[in-house]
Amino acid sequence: MQLATYQSDSGPRVAGVRDDGYVDLSSADPQLPAAMSELLALGREGLERTRRAVQSGAPLSADRPIKLLAPVPRPGKVICVGLNYADHAAESGAAPPEEPVIFNKFPTSVCGHEDPIVLPRLSEQVDYEAELVVVIGEGGRHIPEERALEHVAGYCCGHDVSARDWQLGKPGRQWLLGKTFDTFAPFGPHLVTADEVGDPGDLGIRLRLGGRTMQDSSTRQLIFSIPKLLAYISSVCRLEPGDVLFTGTPPGVGMARKPPVFLQPGDVVEVEIDRLGTLRNPVTAEV
Ligand code: ZN
Repeated sequence: MQLATYQSDSGPRVAGVRDDGYVDLSSADPQLPAAMSELLALGREGLERTRRAVQSGAPLSADRPIKLLAPVPRPGKVICVGLNYADHAAESGAAPPEEPVIFNKFPTSVCGHEDPIVLPRLSEQVDYEAELVVVIGEGGRHIPEERALEHVAGYCCGHDVSARDWQLGKPGRQWLLGKTFDTFAPFGPHLVTADEVGDPGDLGIRLRLGGRTMQDSSTRQLIFSIPKLLAYISSVCRLEPGDVLFTGTPPGVGMARKPPVFLQPGDVVEVEIDRLGTLRNPVTAEV
């Protein structure tokens, strides 16, 4: 099943994705919550109910363009993993880490499919990173690795936009600030439920900049698997429904190129992951 969040007249609402368009869930089951994180908090039973509503609901009118938001527009946590692809660690000249390297973005950095990535006035070196995004369903603390995938609601394409001159160039290395400018965490276009994705450790992942392929790898290259990451992070903090995890990027990022490539106004970036579709974002300058 695929779910989306769209901007309705009454605010963000979850929609089902069907071959004939987006389906308004409340038309079939008015008691289903409008917010994705609340829907995911209902667990397996809620998802089954949602599945029935997607099948029986009425498609949204095709008369008006549908404005998609990120599948979870304001996640409680946006957790990120650095240096998690063996081939990217080699490209960065870094030794593969012995434990996951975790950082975060603020929820205000989230945006959705077709939303512009806004290049801040304060950075000259904004880089792209294609990433698989994991969306948490059932929450938990101290989640054992062997049960971790039971806590995953689904997956999305994600883009960890990064101001390298902040992340690496500022005194003390400002990873948080360099990664959390507004619009620096696009993900979507839809949430694809885990049952439809199968093994998240075997997905092709690509990024195109203006149609040119810049990253082309597979989640087979992940140094720390998704179950390992969820076990590791939940040993520190409780994971909650709707939290999202950006799982790291493969090689081919702009700063590693000679000469380096950074995002420019007018660019269009596409992140494509097997079975998850394509997340597309134009790039604009902050005015
Ligand atoms: Zn990243």
